[in-house]
Amino acid sequence: MRVRFWGVRGSFPVPGPSTNRYGGNTSCVQLSPDNGTVLIVDAGTGIRRLGKELMTRPAFRGGQGVVHLLISHTHWDHIQGLPFFAPLYVKGNQINIYARQRDVDLADIFQSQTQDPYFPVGLEEVAAQVTYTDLSDGARFNAGGVQVRCTRLNHPFIAIGFRIDADGASVAYISDTAPFASIVLEHEYIATRPDIEAPPSVPEAAKLEAMRHGVVELCRGCGLVIYDTMFLPDEYRARPHWGHSCPEHALEIVEAAGASCLALFHHAPERSDEQVDAELARAQAVASCRVVAAAEGMELEVPARPQAAAPSRGRKERR
Ligand SMILES: [Zn+2]
Ligand SMILES: [Zn+2]
Repeated sequence: MRVRFWGVRGSFPVPGPSTNRYGGNTSCVQLSPDNGTVLIVDAGTGIRRLGKELMTRPAFRGGQGVVHLLISHTHWDHIQGLPFFAPLYVKGNQINIYARQRDVDLADIFQSQTQDPYFPVGLEEVAAQVTYTDLSDGARFNAGGVQVRCTRLNHPFIAIGFRIDADGASVAYISDTAPFASIVLEHEYIATRPDIEAPPSVPEAAKLEAMRHGVVELCRGCGLVIYDTMFLPDEYRARPHWGHSCPEHALEIVEAAGASCLALFHHAPERSDEQVDAELARAQAVASCRVVAAAEGMELEVPARPQAAAPSRGRKERR
């Protein structure tokens, strides 16, 4: 399975000379299994160029294109490119959006992004057919012949991580999440929470352990784990309630899961290319697995797991 990064930045787009190498567009990753399914995770500004690339294919130009779009959560940096996704404006194309269930109807959440006076064309009026699928925290489903699983992450108002299995290879996408030391704001908004570093209560500790376990199991044996590493340690200590991790937190999970490669992802907007290089070098120095820093245009081939060809054929990954 091939993975291509179209946007690797967190929070907001930062084009400019200091981010040219890693790229300034917000979160968008494309997964390409052998069966040709177009699977995209998140619709940050990176999805605009991906849409243009898809429009070079006859199927998308001719209104027969199908996209499966997984959304980790609906914070701006994960959806702000969607109105600029060219396949939406061709009659006959089908865009299937999957996101976590909320109290508000999913279609209303996405359509509110393009309401007048914020955008000239409402998402409900586009030519393509758009469908919405509500996901629960532990959902498992098939998207274009590809197996997808979800788990809850530790992020304000809740994000979900995905695991995608195809061609014997597995990729996990874990963005955005804080480490599992303290529950980060669930349904309530609190601008600051001074007690966030206090030890969790017993019920909170159980919930955190369940959440961490879910993430480790999702990443179990993956050939690639793409993980939110927006913070450096001192930045995390200053803003623990923002819901983001450091490379150290990501490595702890990836190594516990026996995954073979970590991609640092969701780089902080203020991080220059040289600073991402330094963050990568620091992570590589302590890692027991391969570590890369996601960059716009980077393409990785994720190999099939060796177990898939072993005599214990049919054995399921530990779940
Ligand atoms: Zn984000
Ligand atoms: Zn977020």
